Amino acid sequence: MEQETKCVQSGYTPGNGEPRVLPISMSTTFKYDSTEDVGDLFDLKKEGFFYTRLSNPTVAAVEAKINDLEGGVGAMMTSSGQAATLIAITNLAQAGDHIISASEVYGGTVNLLAVTLKKFGIETTFADINNERELSAAIKDNTKLIFAETIANPAVTVTDIEKAARVAHEHKIPLLIDNTFATPVICRPFDFGADIVVYSTSKYLDGHAVALGGMIVDGGRFNYAASGKFPGLTEPDESYHGISYTQTFGSAAFITKARVQLMRDLGSAPSPMNAFLLNLGLETLHLRMPAHSENALEVARLLKSSKAVKSVRYPALYGDKSYDLCRKYCKGIGSGVISFELESREKAVKFMDGLRLAAVVVHVADARTCVLHPASSTHRQLTNEQLAAAGITEGTIRLSVGIESKVDIMKDIERGLSNL
Ligand SMILES: *Cc1c(COP(=O)(O)O)cnc(C)c1O
Repeated sequence: MEQETKCVQSGYTPGNGEPRVLPISMSTTFKYDSTEDVGDLFDLKKEGFFYTRLSNPTVAAVEAKINDLEGGVGAMMTSSGQAATLIAITNLAQAGDHIISASEVYGGTVNLLAVTLKKFGIETTFADINNERELSAAIKDNTKLIFAETIANPAVTVTDIEKAARVAHEHKIPLLIDNTFATPVICRPFDFGADIVVYSTSKYLDGHAVALGGMIVDGGRFNYAASGKFPGLTEPDESYHGISYTQTFGSAAFITKARVQLMRDLGSAPSPMNAFLLNLGLETLHLRMPAHSENALEVARLLKSSKAVKSVRYPALYGDKSYDLCRKYCKGIGSGVISFELESREKAVKFMDGLRLAAVVVHVADARTCVLHPASSTHRQLTNEQLAAAGITEGTIRLSVGIESKVDIMKDIERGLSNL
């Protein structure tokens, strides 16, 4: 099936007389006739639902849909994007290990890596992801993965996924990609060599800013056994009757371990209600992404033509430093997010105060146009150095262009600019 059809139909196929629309299985547990049945489920001998922390029919349907859209071997939904990143990384790295992250990533991810994972004993080096030499030089013997965002939040730089995958694979480690801004409608990172994809589904996949969620998708092609660097996946798991995930689950080793070990122990499970809402959002993803992008391109052009604007970053805008990468990896579609710079923090505030349609909210990537000043919100906890590395200045504004009428959005941006 084509991506458009998968957005609408994948993941749930009702049987005769069953609900046409995905039902919400609001139940923590599931009934079985015998203790033997339950035992087999616990031993992973049989597939089925027994406790919603591990899996649930509504959640499983949306996992299957996103897995299908992405072309993976399995997916797991989490309670938030942060939980997806945390579980994906700790499924590969533990205390004493090292990872590499693109320096231009979401502020919450910078905090997770630089502060919290450091306390867990996992060290992160932040590197310029598209600089092959810098990336290679950052790799150490204990490096377990390379992490980057397809379209970085908020710098909107596009990652050269093939190059990053090549560096990772030369060193026998996987490439983990956060595809939140691109979505599978714009880019499928597995097609370019990425090994694992994570999402904050709270953004475009949901699309209406109603339900927090995350997703981990396993591409299934990385050979952990041949790498020899991942005992957690290849050696017996004491907490699971001594099974080896690679031996028992083959290409689905990564995603199985993420669920049966880390979701079991960390418990950041999504609500079935949120899975239902996410599925509803996904049904229009293929219509929304081109609409966001079309509006955003017009706005980016307008901003570029204004003397009050120091610089504009939008990957689908001709002349942008990521323009070629956007064509290669994102079909020339840029999503709704634009990053631009005014001369000062004061100017940024003035511009934002002039807007009436675009609301100032701590969110991006939903149907409504919204605007944010990263230096005083999402990236507030970052030092000036970290801000600079993330491509943010005091005058940077992140604009998330919605799917309202282009005419009204353009009028609003003009109002903001005339306030300067
Ligand atoms: C928002 C976001 C996250 C975090 O997701 P939550 O659902 O808010 O926990 C991670 N990565 C990117 C790129 C994001 O935009």
